Amino acid sequence: MIEISNVHKCFKDNEVLKGVTTNVAEGEVVCLIGPSGSGKSTLLRCINGFESYEKGSIVALGRKVDSHARDINELRRSIGMVFQHFNLFPHRTALENVMEGPVYVNREPRASARKKAVDLLNRVGLGSKCDAYPAQLSGGQQQRVAIARSLAMSPKAMLFDEPTSALDPELVGEVLSVMRGLAADGMTMIVVTHEMSFARDVADRVCFLHSGKIVEEGPASQVLTSPTEQKTQDFLRRVL
Ligand code: ATP
Ligand code: MG
Repeated sequence: MIEISNVHKCFKDNEVLKGVTTNVAEGEVVCLIGPSGSGKSTLLRCINGFESYEKGSIVALGRKVDSHARDINELRRSIGMVFQHFNLFPHRTALENVMEGPVYVNREPRASARKKAVDLLNRVGLGSKCDAYPAQLSGGQQQRVAIARSLAMSPKAMLFDEPTSALDPELVGEVLSVMRGLAADGMTMIVVTHEMSFARDVADRVCFLHSGKIVEEGPASQVLTSPTEQKTQDFLRRVL
């Protein structure tokens, strides 16, 4: 579903991705781990065309990803992205935030968009918060609204970039549990995370990125508990 082959990406003379190759199958959950600056966010941004890359190829949903292509917005709509900071529209309610894409981008009728938004807010456990403004919600609730907003575009895959790392520890669980639900429903997901217990429980595969290269990848049980590479061992020793 997402085929990444030998992708190289530079910012000026700083080569940030140095030949990344991996494939994500439909329904697969891949957790991407690695030290700060290793290129995790850059890789996600290349996958949905927010960043260009110089060499290699990314094919997502059957089409080559080209950030300059005229139909790039179509790809961005098909691949949901959830960031560390949720960036909800502050002057719109939770419900309006979730309706925004379907109504203004997809030109769906308001009534059906509203019904879908209510269903999605229920799905993320916020059925009672439809009329709340972002400032009236906790960080965990805002992040769940952001996930619902992404889902409203009926994405074929979802990319998560440290969705819980800006949250107070007691709010992390509620967001991870929504993500577990998505994974259980068969959503294809790439998740950049430092939540090793989530990776262990939910990921079909863990990729360890270091200095722009995938140094090790495999089932979570292998990569997280008996990594073969020294760099993975050093990283895990620091974070676990
Ligand atoms: P973190 O865990 O801190 O989020 P990361 O693995 O997501 O790190 P990236 O954000 O992908 O790392 O950054 C990889 C490298 O690319 C870093 O050296 C960073 O400074 C550089 N970089 C990222 N975005 C840009 C940009 N827009 N312009 C120039 N350099 C950038
Ligand atoms: Mg990052």
